[in-house]
Formats: sequence, C-alpha cells, structure tokens
Amino acid sequence: MTGPVFYPWSAQEEIDPVRVAGGAGSWFWDEQGNRWLDLHAQMGNLHLGHQHPALVAALREQAGRMCTIAPSFAVDVRDEAARAIVEVAPGDLETVLFTTGGAEAVEHAVRMARVVTGRPKVLAAYRSYHGATAGALALTGDPRRWPVDTASGGAVHFTGPYPYRSEFHAENAAQEGERALEHLRRLVGYEGPDTIAAILVEPVVGSNGVLVPPDGYLAGVRRLCDEHGILLIADEVMTGFGRCGRWFAGDLWDVVPDLMTFAKGVNSGYVPVGGVLLSRAVAAHFAHRRYPGGLTYSGHPLACASIVAALRVLREENLVDRAAALGRDVVGPALAELAERHPVVGDVRGVGLAWAVELVRDRATREPLAPYAAPGTLAPEMAAVLAACKRQGVWPLAAGNRLHLFPPLTITAEELTAGIAGIDRALTEVSE
Ligand code: PMP
Repeated sequence: MTGPVFYPWSAQEEIDPVRVAGGAGSWFWDEQGNRWLDLHAQMGNLHLGHQHPALVAALREQAGRMCTIAPSFAVDVRDEAARAIVEVAPGDLETVLFTTGGAEAVEHAVRMARVVTGRPKVLAAYRSYHGATAGALALTGDPRRWPVDTASGGAVHFTGPYPYRSEFHAENAAQEGERALEHLRRLVGYEGPDTIAAILVEPVVGSNGVLVPPDGYLAGVRRLCDEHGILLIADEVMTGFGRCGRWFAGDLWDVVPDLMTFAKGVNSGYVPVGGVLLSRAVAAHFAHRRYPGGLTYSGHPLACASIVAALRVLREENLVDRAAALGRDVVGPALAELAERHPVVGDVRGVGLAWAVELVRDRATREPLAPYAAPGTLAPEMAAVLAACKRQGVWPLAAGNRLHLFPPLTITAEELTAGIAGIDRALTEVSE
C-alpha cells in the first residue's frame, strides 16, 4: 500500500498498518472493533496508558492558555516541568536541556560531552539503540540498523554484558559483568583515555533485548570514567520514569551519570519531548560559554504541561514502586511458568515493567528462533508468533527473536496476568 504518509522501516509497498481508531487505559482498538492489550505501550512510551484524563485535561488547559512560545523566552510551565524532572533525578543532575525526542537528546548529550572535555571520541555499546537521526544512529550499536549513510561514523563500539549469549565465555552473570568491564577497560586503553569524551550506555538495554547488567557492571563503568576524566552518559529514554521500577534504571545500582537523556515516560509520549539532564559540573561549564543548541520546539509549552501532569500522576499513584512490585510479583513468576511450558522460550528476563521473552529453536544450542530481520520487520517465524498474539488480543513488541513487554505502568495485575496467558496460548498455537 502506498499513500501520502511515508512509513519508516519497510519498503512502502509492503506497508499495511493497522488503522487504529482509539485507545483507553491499557487497550487500543481498530476500526473493525478488534481490541488489543497494549503490552507494546507504543514503543515503551505510554507510561500512563491511552487517554489518561489528567493528561488530556492538562493539555486542554495549556492549549487554552498558550500553545507555543520560542525557547528563548522564559515561561512558567517550562520551569515547572524542569523542576519536576530535577526533583526525581538522582545526584546533582539539576539542569534540563529540552529537546523534542530521544534521538536529539542523545545527540546533544554527546555534543556537550565533547565540548566540555575537548575530546573527540565516544564509546557506545553494541546491542544498544539510541535513535534514528544520523548521529544517534551512528552511536547505536547495531550494524544491522546502519544504512550506508551512517555506517558507524562517530563512535567506537564495545561489547556489554549479555549473560544468556555471553561473548566472553563467562560461566555466570557475575563473571560476565567482570569480563565485560575488563574488555571496556582494555578498549579505553587502546583508544587512548585522553581522546575519549564520553562512554554512552543504556543502564538497562531496552530495544535491543532488555539486558539487565550484572550487579557491579554499571558502577565499574562509572569508576572507569572517573579514573580518566571521561563523562558517563546514561541514555534513559526507554528506562526512565519508572519503567524499571525505580525513577531511573541507574538508580537500581545508585549510579549517577554526568549527563542523562530522557524522553518517552517523562510525559507518557502525549506530546513529542525529550531532553538532557546535566550534572552541576557540566552545567557550570556552560555558565560563561555559548552552546549553539537551540531547537524551535525545545520546551514546548504543551509538552511541558504534559510533563508536569504526568510526573504528578506517577508520584500520586505511586506508579514507580508499583512497577517494581508488578514485575517482581506478577510478570516474573508468570513468565517463568511460561518458560517451563514452552521449549521455544530460551530465556525470560527483565526488571520492573520491562521484560523480554527470547525465543529459540533449541534450548541447548540457544539458536534463535528467527534470524535477525531488518529493524521494524520480522522474520516469518516471529511474524507468526506476533500474529498469534494479536489473535489472542495481546500486542507485545516483537523485535529480532524476542517478544518485549513494556506495558503502561498503570496496567492492572489482572490485565498483566491475562496478557501473559494470551501469549501462552499464542505460543501453543504456533507450536501446533
Ligand atoms: N534512546 C533509547 C534508549 C531509545 O529506546 C530510543 C527510542 N526507542 C531513543 C533513544 C530514541 O528516541 P526517539 O525515538 O524519541 O528519538
């Protein structure tokens, strides 16, 4: 189907998107009345679910007062949004640069790190995702995502920990973490520590597999940075604002970066927005220097009003602690049972409300169920699994050989249990 809208990812002729008619809470539906439990949360975005009344009301109210104002003017709602973010941010991350999404936030964080350190190189992890603009895609550690125009320019990539498919031949998670750190330490040495501006990490890898690092890994990366005056950039676009059961995934190990990127959950994605949190030292660097980084829509009033409202709901409804409890008490046990019943499940892993179910042909060899297909597309085996899920009324996010569960944080325990039961039936259906 070709039409006036250019859809990213697939060839335009192959596109036949589901035409969504509406959504409410954890559900969305099409024009034919098919309804799906949204375990996809629109790319891990809708922390407060579809059409949350507090967000809709805040947007209406702000639209009635002021729709837009350039970023060079001060406006109360922007200060309020920044204050609300700083209040939940760890350590001395006290200043916010607003962008219009995650990729721009990553590009700004990297630019700032280069400006602050005066060094050129940035190290980023294989199996990371940092966005689809030229710079962010080059930082993204996934060669299969690199079209010819960005072929890895601008970043040196390292291998992070992935116990299930250890490239370090580690026998357990702790050893994987140690060996991954040793690998990074060596790479820093080869590259020359005083040429490296920043190490960029997703504290928990999101889109590339929900990889929770072994304890000690992230703190080790922080120490390595400190030893060499390298800035640590944490990309919390996917993991921030409660997704991993803490306000930020780095909080799981009490690691505070120098720069932190965010987007998605900050306002549940109701208006495009993202940003960078700067440590006191990084912000101080710009006290007497210009930073050419203006974007027409930085700190857009509608975005800021939705941030203030979203963070208020996350706090008042205690949704961050709730995400931790739901992951621990509901999703973890239900997926462990699922894995016992279905040999096609090689691994289940996650924290808070970020989970992956990794599908394999053979548990012993861990051969993936499907070879990796181009981003946004699925190999036929995985397309069949996703189609079966959809027939069961559940829409997880399928990527590579994995089903990802990134539900709204407002989801109920009953919905989660029913959703995982739907995936269970879908796996039975495809195995028959
Ligand atoms: N960083 C991470 C960790 C992400 O998960 C994403 C989006 N999935 C991005 C950056 C890019 O964000 P955006 O799509 O808003 O540009």
